Amino acid sequence: MSFTGRFCLRCGKRESDEEPLIDGLCLDCFLKERALAKIPNNVVLVRCPVCGSVYVSGSWVPTSGGDEEALSHYIVETVVKKGKTHESFKDVQVVVTNAGNNRAEVLVRSSFMSKPVEQAFTINYRVEARLCPRCLSVKTRDYEAILQVRFAGEPSEVVRRRVGKLISSVRSISSNVTDYKELREGVDVKFSNVSAARQAANYLQGVLGGYIKESWKLHGVVGGKRHGKLSIVLRIPQLIPGELIVYRNSLMEVLDIQRDKLVLRDLTKDEVVKTSFKSLTKEGFRQLSPEDYAVDECEVIKFEEGRLTASCVSGAVVEASFPKHLSVGERIQVITYKDLKYVKRLRG
Ligand SMILES: [Zn+2]
Ligand SMILES: [Zn+2]
Repeated sequence: MSFTGRFCLRCGKRESDEEPLIDGLCLDCFLKERALAKIPNNVVLVRCPVCGSVYVSGSWVPTSGGDEEALSHYIVETVVKKGKTHESFKDVQVVVTNAGNNRAEVLVRSSFMSKPVEQAFTINYRVEARLCPRCLSVKTRDYEAILQVRFAGEPSEVVRRRVGKLISSVRSISSNVTDYKELREGVDVKFSNVSAARQAANYLQGVLGGYIKESWKLHGVVGGKRHGKLSIVLRIPQLIPGELIVYRNSLMEVLDIQRDKLVLRDLTKDEVVKTSFKSLTKEGFRQLSPEDYAVDECEVIKFEEGRLTASCVSGAVVEASFPKHLSVGERIQVITYKDLKYVKRLRG
């Protein structure tokens, strides 16, 4: 055994043949202090929303899985294969886990003196949608129909990408896409034929709910024939059961959603209301967020002639009117919205 007389700069451990120093540090200290690969803090993944291919270092590579697979491919190509790893570590492997909400964990694995080593990184990333040339080249750039997916309020990136994933999951739809754009307010998809656009609209409506409106836009007259493009707008209210909306001048709870049908409970009358997204959009409604109202869990302590008194978890004793009979001891929620009190029975 040779004696080099060198010590780790951080912890003072003596270097040995089995564990030589790396940049003046022992292995443990190196892994604590330094990065064995230059993993970027922020990654922008350019991905084709139709086929899922990822654009990395000038070429499009098919990936079948989710963000984890795409990110690990990105890191292998831009870090490992570009030699941005520490020279003392060979066979560097990358595993990406827990990708979501624009953050992911990156585990970098390697070995040092035949001992396995591992280092964890957290990265931020976002996905940018761009149609890959392969998905574009099969068709002409010309289109016959445009589908505009719009939401009540600004959709989150997750919601926008769900639209892309749904479109790419059905071959007869995705093979007719000629352009795909993610916008702040939603997604615009162009199709080379009308029936694929209609199929896409119906499919998205089936999964996400919403209301479809079609119109033809005249694009000039060619050879005596009217030349039009179909425009389809799918409006998705993004309602989920349990949410509250203001509709027909009353506070209503969303109970169930099926395609274009909606089941609501009018909290003023304690009655179930069935409606459609079409009526909802036409008549107008306001979607409430939890900041708009206050909820208190209460128990009825008195009920007389449509007036109830309830004692609440918050300590408050509340009085409110209710059109139907309530029993003493019944558990209710009292919702305060714009200084008015609404009673929600807790059924079942
Ligand atoms: Zn050390
Ligand atoms: Zn593609």
